[in-house]
Amino acid sequence: MTVSSVEDLDRQYFFHPFTHARDHERSGPLTMVSGRGSTLVDAQGKEYLDAMAGLWCVNIGYGNEEMADALAAQTRQLAYYHTFASMGNEPVARLAHRLVTDAPGDMAKVFFGNSGSDANDTQVKLVWYYNNVLGRPEKKKIISRERGYHGVTVMSGSLCGLPGMHTGFDLPLPMVRFARAPHHRFEGLEGETEEQFVARLAQELDDLIVAEGPETVAAFIAEPLQAAGGVIVPPAGYFPAIQEVLRRHDVLLIADEVVCGFGRTGEWFGSTTFGVEPDLMTVAKGITSAYVPLSAVIVSSPVWDVIASGSEKFGLFSHGYTYSAHPLAATAAMTNLDIVERDGLMGQAKARGDHLAQRLHAAFDGHPLVAEVRGHGLVGAVEFAESLEPLRRFEPRAKVSGAIVKRARELGVITRALPNADTISFSPPFVVTEAELDQMVAGTRQALDDVC
Ligand code: PLP
Repeated sequence: MTVSSVEDLDRQYFFHPFTHARDHERSGPLTMVSGRGSTLVDAQGKEYLDAMAGLWCVNIGYGNEEMADALAAQTRQLAYYHTFASMGNEPVARLAHRLVTDAPGDMAKVFFGNSGSDANDTQVKLVWYYNNVLGRPEKKKIISRERGYHGVTVMSGSLCGLPGMHTGFDLPLPMVRFARAPHHRFEGLEGETEEQFVARLAQELDDLIVAEGPETVAAFIAEPLQAAGGVIVPPAGYFPAIQEVLRRHDVLLIADEVVCGFGRTGEWFGSTTFGVEPDLMTVAKGITSAYVPLSAVIVSSPVWDVIASGSEKFGLFSHGYTYSAHPLAATAAMTNLDIVERDGLMGQAKARGDHLAQRLHAAFDGHPLVAEVRGHGLVGAVEFAESLEPLRRFEPRAKVSGAIVKRARELGVITRALPNADTISFSPPFVVTEAELDQMVAGTRQALDDVC
């Protein structure tokens, strides 16, 4: 009997997410076998600097021993028990308290899930439930934004403002609407200042809600910084202006903090950085640095009061997962947040973000193919564009960035091409060193020179 290689097994049996099936059959997988800090090692022993912290998530870096020990201890003590019907566990009670305490505004409760996608799905169910409790069964539409990314379940995929997320899947669902992305350079009119742009976006949102009928619009969902849609940093004053419109029409604001949460913007939450006052928050990724899957929906006091009163109307709250509030995931979160706080990693992320921005500007500004270098906190981006026209037409395109990311990987640097904006993104672990950032930027610039 022949022993198949891991690559063969993968090629034959593994249905990869976000992968072109025919390309994969031809090229096979890149199999990672270990990681430490910001470095990954593949099955051939080749090393890569991971400028994306996986998928914007391994904030404390790979191979953290303290995390491994904490997870081993909790596995021995209580690896699992469910949390339906008032069942609890110690790590999750502590984590819920911590999240409510740390979140901005008047937060009351935390519901746990397993991914950003399922958490955003939960958000919509909560918002619908909330309006049903209030006796407003028609107030159900959700407004998302063009270029937003919120996940892949039937509802969270619908909330994505990226056409590619709908292709072939009969999405979006009919109750979703889209507002314009707050990117001045993409969307600003000739001669329009950022201030005028913000005022126009607020007016457009108001017009949209009025046209739909405020009595039919339940919530607005937004990433504080639009990550996967192109690293779009909102202009000053954007969220306060938007929020004013939402309050006027009694529309809830859901902040999708899946990328921003827990230090990525240089502050604990992107909502604080960009002036969002959420009624509901979604967190995932950086909550455990991806050591164990976990997401959470953080619910404000006024929303919770309504939801809690729903038990008088509807009885049992029939929503939750087998793995909701999994004790290993909660342990990973508590350990991860302890490490980030104790080791000052949020401050480090901010300082490293400044260094990254400075290096990206030095390496890419002025290049004829580069449209813009941008970012915030420890998120950076380089966008390629021959002209603004393709952006205005919002065509999926990743011509230059795709080729650079491929070449950079050969050179040992992992970045990510964001297909709707021909943009390369950087979102490294908070523990990245300045020397590693220099290598990441130099490798990417070398890749640009090699492919163009
Ligand atoms: N929301 C945002 C802002 C994200 O960036 C992502 C994933 O990248 C998600 C939601 C979906 O999270 P998950 O992939 O864990 O389902």
